[in-house]
Amino acid sequence: MKSLVKQNILNVKNYVPGKPIEEVERELGIKNVVKLASNENCFGPSPVAIAAIRDALRKINRYPDSASFYLKKKLAASLGVGESNLIFGNGSDEVICMAIKAFVSDGDEVIIATPTFLIYEIASTLQNAKIKIVPMTQDLKYDLREMKKAITPKTKLVFIANPDNPTGTYVTKKELDEFLQGLPEKLIVFLDEAYFEFANYSFKDYPNGMDYISRPGMIVARTFSKVYGLAGLRIGYAIANPEIISYMERVREPFNINILAQIGAEAALDDKTFLKKTLSHVEIEREYLYAAFRKMGLEYVRSATNFIIVNVGKDCKEVFNALLKEGVIVRDMKAWGFDTFIRVTVGTKPENRKFITALKKVIK
Ligand code: PMP
Repeated sequence: MKSLVKQNILNVKNYVPGKPIEEVERELGIKNVVKLASNENCFGPSPVAIAAIRDALRKINRYPDSASFYLKKKLAASLGVGESNLIFGNGSDEVICMAIKAFVSDGDEVIIATPTFLIYEIASTLQNAKIKIVPMTQDLKYDLREMKKAITPKTKLVFIANPDNPTGTYVTKKELDEFLQGLPEKLIVFLDEAYFEFANYSFKDYPNGMDYISRPGMIVARTFSKVYGLAGLRIGYAIANPEIISYMERVREPFNINILAQIGAEAALDDKTFLKKTLSHVEIEREYLYAAFRKMGLEYVRSATNFIIVNVGKDCKEVFNALLKEGVIVRDMKAWGFDTFIRVTVGTKPENRKFITALKKVIK
């Protein structure tokens, strides 16, 4: 069978998702497991979205609107862009894949930082792109100067996660401006803002990708999975100039956004109270976690997101497994080559305290 598969498919690394709560409870025979592994919203979905989705259930015998007409109209108005500046994906994961499919040919170069979101490398490998990896700086920030130096006439696309996952760090407006200055027009810059709302809420020098969409090759991606609490519905979007969007539309599957996702996202946009509650909670609880790490003498990276990486000073897989037994799911950083780091999502107050108590016990 191996001789049948395309060579580049053999090179694709597996994406290892956060472990689901049900799986851990089933495997370990424990209850009340807390998941702090996938940067989800700890408050659940917005209640306004839940009500709208419940109401929409009776429509699911029909295909969804392929154009996401009402959602697009509402999102365009809320962002202050035209409807032709938007395209939706089955999560921003799919937006990433659509950009690669539309713009990157076999053998084109794609520039990716490390450590960063693993889907960039997976999607680029699937397309048989030539991947150039640029390490982050010592303080785990995107090294945009080195990434710019890595650009050649063969480079087609550069990924920038701002803020980054897994480090939680961000590039400032000044750094981004400097990077974009004088870039070749034919280059796609994919600015992944999955955690935009968190960074924008807390940091004044964080740039808004929307200010750059007049640049010809700029694609800005955002999602309803994080601050809006709709990860399970799978809906994200890109903002770009209409021509870029029109090319991405050609590779989009016609019914990629299901009815419940369209209706849930539309309702979630209205729920400003939920948004505010989430953002303020994450800011406060990040400080709680930092303080707890400091007390334990653990090194951590200050984050502009709803997750934090922390050096637990021991094999991270062991710590991950020991935390599972205590009923807490985090993410170990082995896949990124950080053997003593774990990544933890900011949970509710009781969840964060349960995590810290468990961590103290496990690394003692
Ligand atoms: N980009 C980054 C940086 C992420 O961390 C994630 C989610 N882990 C995504 C994109 C994809 O999110 P989604 O597909 O749920 O929109």
